[in-house]
Amino acid sequence: MTHLHIPTPLLEHRALSASLDKQVWLKMENNQPSGSFKLRGIGLMCQRAAEQGAKHFVCPSGGNAGFAAAVAGVALGLQTTIVVPETTHESVRAAIRAIGATVIVAGSVWDEANQEALRLCEQPGAVYIPPFDHADIWDGNATVIDEVAGKLDFDAIICSVGGGGLLSGIALGLERNGLGHIPIIAAETEGAASLHAAVQAGELVTLPAITSIASTLGARRVAQQAFDWTRKRTIHTVTVSDAQAVQACLAFADDMLALVEPACGAALAVAYQNLPVLAEFKKPLIVVCGGIAVDLGKLQAWKNQFQLT
Ligand SMILES: *Cc1c(COP(=O)(O)O)cnc(C)c1O
Repeated sequence: MTHLHIPTPLLEHRALSASLDKQVWLKMENNQPSGSFKLRGIGLMCQRAAEQGAKHFVCPSGGNAGFAAAVAGVALGLQTTIVVPETTHESVRAAIRAIGATVIVAGSVWDEANQEALRLCEQPGAVYIPPFDHADIWDGNATVIDEVAGKLDFDAIICSVGGGGLLSGIALGLERNGLGHIPIIAAETEGAASLHAAVQAGELVTLPAITSIASTLGARRVAQQAFDWTRKRTIHTVTVSDAQAVQACLAFADDMLALVEPACGAALAVAYQNLPVLAEFKKPLIVVCGGIAVDLGKLQAWKNQFQLT
């Protein structure tokens, strides 16, 4: 079975390596055809569903999950409907339509779009594609580790956490490649830190609201699977401010000539801020998760908002 995702570049971040006196490695998931790692997991889930006779994919997401589902569904030649809330920007709706998927606008918040998606899935042949909470998605996201295992010597891996689908995939990928001992540093922004809150509480928690600008990380509650991994292996949860995440995006744009969302900036900020959690590691690998909800104008606006120089 050929994958819908592509193998991505593995680059050393030479400037950070020099300033931190470490080897800092980057897995450039921003280069995926969907602009984020999400094509790995969602692509695999869609492929498996298509093999089992799916006729129609329905994904409730005005973000990178919806865009990845659109890329996957169109590549597989199946009808694909992305259900977005009214808050989803017209540019995102246009991007989804431009690749040939259908956009339906339903409700003012994600939960309402999700209800509509679930309703559409009552039709025969329709398959619900969730943003992060499915075993096929974790299995597909794990390929990011399959690609580096045996090729790169790394001693920690840094990723961002929204609902925990990427984290669960990374944990699975490390496990199945005999790398289960490698610690994961799981980064969230303040105001979207649902994994950190769960770890602190010792049980899953639902945040009352998301207050971070990193809306891609804005799952009020993480997947049970992601929380379960924190009990089974070493996962350091860290939080950064929105300003630090944006600062990391700006620096990354200058250093690596690539634009990524603040959701990705959260992971990058662990290295750019040289957070204490990094002290014990010499060869960290950052999963540059990417994201399409960014452009020069947005970066400039956030830069102004947080009075960054
Ligand atoms: C989806 C996404 C995340 C969060 O992934 P989860 O699987 O929800 O934890 C982080 N960054 C980007 C760019 C994303 O698209």
